[in-house]
Amino acid sequence: MNACSQSGWALSMPVILTGLVCVGVILLARWVTRQRYFPGRDSFILLHIASLWWMLAASVEMAAQGASCKMFWASMAWPGIVGVPTFWAVFLWQYVNSERQPLPLRHVLGLTVVPAIVWLLALSNPWHGLFYTAGSAPISAAPGAAIRYQHGLLFYATAVYGYFFMLFCLAIVIRAAVLSNGVHRRHYLAFVLVTAVPWVANLSYVLFGWMLFGFDPTPFSFAFTLAAFAWLIVGVRLFDLLPVARHLLLQELLDPVLVIDPRQRVIEANPAALKLAGLTSAWQGRVLADWPVFGVDLRALLQEPPNSEQDRLLTLASPVRYFEVRTRAIERVTRTSTFVLGQMLYLRDVTQRHLSELKLAEALATSEERLRTISSLHEQLQEQALRDPLTGLYNRRYLDEFFSREQARAQREHAPVALALIDLDHFKLLNDAHGHLVGDDVLKVVAQHLTDSLRSSDAVFRIGGEEFLLILPGAGAQEAQQRLELICRQLADSPLPTRSGPQTVTLSAGLAFWPAQGQALDELMQAADAALYEAKRSGRNRVCALALSSG
Ligand code: GH3
Ligand code: MG
Ligand code: MG
Repeated sequence: MNACSQSGWALSMPVILTGLVCVGVILLARWVTRQRYFPGRDSFILLHIASLWWMLAASVEMAAQGASCKMFWASMAWPGIVGVPTFWAVFLWQYVNSERQPLPLRHVLGLTVVPAIVWLLALSNPWHGLFYTAGSAPISAAPGAAIRYQHGLLFYATAVYGYFFMLFCLAIVIRAAVLSNGVHRRHYLAFVLVTAVPWVANLSYVLFGWMLFGFDPTPFSFAFTLAAFAWLIVGVRLFDLLPVARHLLLQELLDPVLVIDPRQRVIEANPAALKLAGLTSAWQGRVLADWPVFGVDLRALLQEPPNSEQDRLLTLASPVRYFEVRTRAIERVTRTSTFVLGQMLYLRDVTQRHLSELKLAEALATSEERLRTISSLHEQLQEQALRDPLTGLYNRRYLDEFFSREQARAQREHAPVALALIDLDHFKLLNDAHGHLVGDDVLKVVAQHLTDSLRSSDAVFRIGGEEFLLILPGAGAQEAQQRLELICRQLADSPLPTRSGPQTVTLSAGLAFWPAQGQALDELMQAADAALYEAKRSGRNRVCALALSSG
């Protein structure tokens, strides 16, 4: 401070300009940090404090008139000068990597060690002259003339330290620009530019002695940085839209998302994933299989060969939840090969959908079951419609269908078909004598008797009260006659069991032959009816056929 006690002060244009830039930096830093949260915000603030320090020291140096006072303030600028690249690098690193954890205090303190040492070395320059050598002097004799500094060893060592951070900054943003594309790439290219300008200014000062207002132009280049930032923030919505938006998306997503490295350690998990696992801390780096609730199952699922999306369903018990697991490899592609850095696991909650699907499947199964019942009932009904309820024989409804089928077959096979119209004899008398129920019993036993004497291709129909029709495919006149006579004889010979004891009934039958006595069923029925009439007329309990016309 002694150095400045004799110094005069002057408020020149450069001082005012630098002061304005300072105010601008303060306002902008304040405004930016009040915006939505963005990665690296703390180091962004520290970066601005450092640049503010630098510019304030520079403006005081400019305002001071005495040479030694100027040199004192030049020394005072050093914590800012070294702090700027340091925190610029930290900010870029955090921003580009979406690092959201605030920088721990010990790291901040660690990073301020070198700026503090440099500061002390600069302040002690009058004793050792290692920063600014003895040759440093005002450029002219005019009052307040700028100092032309002759730099010493410590200055260059510090510059190298600063350039190390500067190269690091450039490397980070260039890498980010190369790895990204589209909007992101433009965004990072803008970063490269904003990062490069102050350092180009500084390099041209250190290497070529280029000056502005007789000063190191670096702090003034912050005016450019300021404008560029303002443009990036207002025009491109830098802090709102890009990594922040991505990060927020992950944060706000209701579905769990995890990132695992090739050794199956979870290195990233969004709040939904942590909530599902019931974890709040100490999860980073934990092996997936050790994660509560879903770790083991998810691990097992990932080991299965990926068949289809549908197969990767994670089921959790109590409460039952279903997640569709989608995986995506995180790769780094170089010119020669592709490295798998890890895997992103996206667990889409499909509980609602899956439960509905299950319910639907259940409902479908029930309705299929019902449909089966209905169709079988329908079949039964259809069958019942074709059968006579008392005897269980086919009724008239089925006769037409059966006959036309047999006729077609007989036509193909050039085989005859015989029809036998059967009527029980004096059935009315039986009814009258023993009652209708006994008559029913007789009808049932006769039906059974007829059925028993059929061959597999034959069919018997109950076509009236005590009238039956037998169709004998393949039977010629003689064979039909013989078979019917056997049936007739057997019936007459065997008393039938009824509720009022055994009853003997006889039958009369009239035969008709296809194709000899007609083509159509009606024709044949008429012929059979006529033959039956003949059987009744000639004494009953017999089988008659009309004489076949010659040929
Ligand atoms: P015929 O030898 O001339 O055939 O004498 P019939 O008594 O059998 O003569 P008809 O054909 O006139 O009589 C048939 C009787 O069969 C009349 C009716 O009471 C009886 N019948 C018809 N359907 C049923 C039935 O389902 N159950 C019973 N128990 N009787 C029936
Ligand atoms: Mg009758
Ligand atoms: Mg009768």
